[in-house]
Amino acid sequence: MPNLSPWLANTLEKVIRNKTHEVTVVETKVLGDDLKQITFEASNELDLIPGNGILIQVNVAEYRYYTISDFNREANTCQIIFYLKPQGPGSVWAKNVQKGDCLALIVDQAEIQYDLNANQHFFFGDETSIGLYESFGKIATNLEHEYFGILELKEENHSALKNIKLLIDAVSSEVMFPAENAIEWMENMHPKCWDMWKGAKFYLTGREKSVQRFKKYLKNKGVSSLQIQSSFYWEKGRMGN
Ligand SMILES: Cc1cc2nc3c(=O)[nH]c(=O)nc-3n(C[C@H](O)[C@H](O)[C@H](O)COP(=O)(O)OP(=O)(O)OC[C@H]3O[C@@H](n4cnc5c(N)ncnc54)[C@H](O)[C@@H]3O)c2cc1C
Repeated sequence: MPNLSPWLANTLEKVIRNKTHEVTVVETKVLGDDLKQITFEASNELDLIPGNGILIQVNVAEYRYYTISDFNREANTCQIIFYLKPQGPGSVWAKNVQKGDCLALIVDQAEIQYDLNANQHFFFGDETSIGLYESFGKIATNLEHEYFGILELKEENHSALKNIKLLIDAVSSEVMFPAENAIEWMENMHPKCWDMWKGAKFYLTGREKSVQRFKKYLKNKGVSSLQIQSSFYWEKGRMGN
């Protein structure tokens, strides 16, 4: 829902008011040059699950999708990790948002859900997936499950991973070759390691072409569709999602 007329945006907001939480920004934290973590405190009771999609109105007519990376029921707060691109109304909004700002978060379903019945969880994604996988990583740690994975990140964002509680690897993303470096990383994995992980649950998010390519690669390696959950978060040249 990237572009709406102001009238339609207002109407829609009324219709989904029951899913809307009025929140105040209580903390902003820079995780890296292009990554910003924002903590929101709600005035009504928050009831979220890790991975809930969130719509934010980023200007008079446009909304963008983000993901809850943390939810604290006692404090009634939640967090989102924003990837800040040089352009795009969502990125501009996230760059400028400050402590004390008030806004509405529209809660959507969690398209990708942590599989509580599995013991091993494998994450593939990019900068926009970090929030989702940070929340899944916390669940895995609490449940004494194992997690592993690979992120395609711009060179300048590799160091930001140190500021995030997510112990997975990163390779450089290349616009012209979606998922290629991640697949090479998989190919370099020791065969015994793949034997241990081939029965895991796989979660694929981020750039559409990368997700498609990585999914095809996994299927060629014998991973079944039932083991894979995927969601396209963005694609080059497409505004919104
Ligand atoms: C369910 C869901 C959950 C999401 N969760 C998050 C999240 O937690 N954090 C987060 O940062 N993003 C998340 N995204 C992705 C985010 O909504 C998109 O990246 C969105 O396009 C950003 O809006 P924008 O206004 O900054 O850029 P847009 O105006 O949408 O796009 C401007 C230009 O930038 C390009 N572009 C968009 N995204 C990227 C990118 N990541 N890298 C390079 N170029 C890009 C577009 O193709 C376009 O050419 C999520 C998307 C979905 C569908």
